Amino acid sequence: MNRIYDILIIGGGPAGLSTAFICQKQGLSYLVLESGKSVFQGIANTYPQGKLVYPSKPKDAPEPFLVEELRPPDKPVTVESYLQYVQHFVQHENLNVQTEVAFEDIRDERDGLTVITSKGNFKGKKVVLSFGSNIPRELSVYGDAKMVAKSVDDPSKYIGVKTLVIGGGNTAADVVISILKAKREKSDIHPVYWAHKSETFDVNKETAQRLGEEILLGGNIRLLQGATPRIGEVDDEGVDRLVIRINEFKQSDGIDLYHALSFPMQNVIACIGSQGPVPIFDKLGIQTIACTSGVCKIAKEGDRLVLLTAEFESTRKGVYIIGGAISPSFMKIAAGSIQEEKHPNLIYTAVNDAHHVVEAVRKSLGR
Ligand SMILES: Cc1cc2nc3c(=O)[nH]c(=O)nc-3n(C[C@H](O)[C@H](O)[C@H](O)COP(=O)(O)OP(=O)(O)OC[C@H]3O[C@@H](n4cnc5c(N)ncnc54)[C@H](O)[C@@H]3O)c2cc1C
Repeated sequence: MNRIYDILIIGGGPAGLSTAFICQKQGLSYLVLESGKSVFQGIANTYPQGKLVYPSKPKDAPEPFLVEELRPPDKPVTVESYLQYVQHFVQHENLNVQTEVAFEDIRDERDGLTVITSKGNFKGKKVVLSFGSNIPRELSVYGDAKMVAKSVDDPSKYIGVKTLVIGGGNTAADVVISILKAKREKSDIHPVYWAHKSETFDVNKETAQRLGEEILLGGNIRLLQGATPRIGEVDDEGVDRLVIRINEFKQSDGIDLYHALSFPMQNVIACIGSQGPVPIFDKLGIQTIACTSGVCKIAKEGDRLVLLTAEFESTRKGVYIIGGAISPSFMKIAAGSIQEEKHPNLIYTAVNDAHHVVEAVRKSLGR
């Protein structure tokens, strides 16, 4: 970890990649750290198949798209072709991106900031947080459950093992379907256990149909309704395991009886939804302000908005936040006052934030 980048960029979506592209053009050194398997993973994960991508721009926005290269075309294309275009763009421009690196924390140093990730530490003079608004929820179990996956890039990884998928919605169902299919195609008899804390699963008709089809074709599934992940533990052989309780009998003597299943954590995928980035801001010691009635027009009473300067710098010096991570509004410090600032969650906003933040960083580095 010798190199000190001018900017470390967390997240390779529209905001992060625009930041990278502008840095490259302006001769600032940078590195994008993206947790997904490829850039624009946030979009790949959240847009439905075949969705058209629009170059939407808020009516009252004065500026054009400031990074034309990432602007979706006027005649909307499907998300699949937009993603393909972006892949080519990254290759063609030779942008400096490392994928499958998950951001964890930031440490202040005398000569800059150290970013702590799942793949080691990186050093930068400034950090731009552009990790979007969809932060996967963690399993809250006693013990550590960090090894549990939150999505599936390669379902064939689960062939030959009993797999546990946790969550009751469409995302969990999609994961179950993709693993069932991969197992069925390789005649793997090990089942997929699908667990949800409620008694009923909540999936849309189209997903339910695809799941039904997969089961009828021979998919081996075991449903665990009313099951709750309880504890992360290490077994006698040093394997990290997740224990999930599948039923519980309260007894009059106060000693409860229950059944539980224990899975190696590397066979577990938890699709339990996403949350906004506020818990990460808390962890990083970045200040937020709770909205009180009458003060905020977009956020609701009690919502916590991150506090930023007009240049998108947070209360943690050298740490900037842009894009979906600060949408739909944030608290802006300008001309001695603090006000809620509208910030629509659009590719346009993410891209233009990038332009402004690189300008600000360039000035602050005296370049
Ligand atoms: C269904 C849907 C349809 C939409 N359609 C449109 C549209 O047609 N036009 C439009 O303008 N906008 C649309 N939007 C909004 C648009 O996609 C967002 O405004 C835009 O993606 C925000 O860009 P971003 O770079 O800030 O965040 P994201 O696109 O979310 O990118 C953040 C990146 O950070 C990565 N990341 C997250 N956590 C970490 C971590 N810990 N470490 C490292 N990397 C991390 C993610 O994998 C992701 O790749 C749509 C949104 C949705 C959900």
